[in-house]
Amino acid sequence: MNRFGFSLSKGRQINYDTNDRSAAEYVIAGEPSLLACIECGGCASTCTSGNFTSFSLRQLNILLKRGENDSLRDELRKCMLCGKCTLVCPRGVNTRNVILLAMEAFNKSQDYAV
Ligand code: SF4
Ligand code: SF4
Repeated sequence: MNRFGFSLSKGRQINYDTNDRSAAEYVIAGEPSLLACIECGGCASTCTSGNFTSFSLRQLNILLKRGENDSLRDELRKCMLCGKCTLVCPRGVNTRNVILLAMEAFNKSQDYAV
């Protein structure tokens, strides 16, 4: 396919029936403000870690809520817990607490220990 100068992208569907939402439910139970997130990206644009790495809290929130956990463990390690994202969030999401609870949720799970 590449000989034409392009290739077809792999299918990308969100399967809520098979995704594991237990970590998201754990975080939301402890920090319900995550539900107010509108994925605006304000947190990601001001993120200290995001200035130096590929870390994006906006992306992390989306994947967490979808139950797509596979890459989250490694991503969470990039956060420095500085709290700048919490200061700029227009929806009042306690983002720092979201990250701490997500770390806690993955630490409780054998598959996703941080
Ligand atoms: S700044 Fe707040 S509302 Fe916007 S993506 Fe980040 S957590 Fe969500
Ligand atoms: S607490 Fe983490 S996600 Fe928020 S601005 Fe700091 S490094 Fe970025």
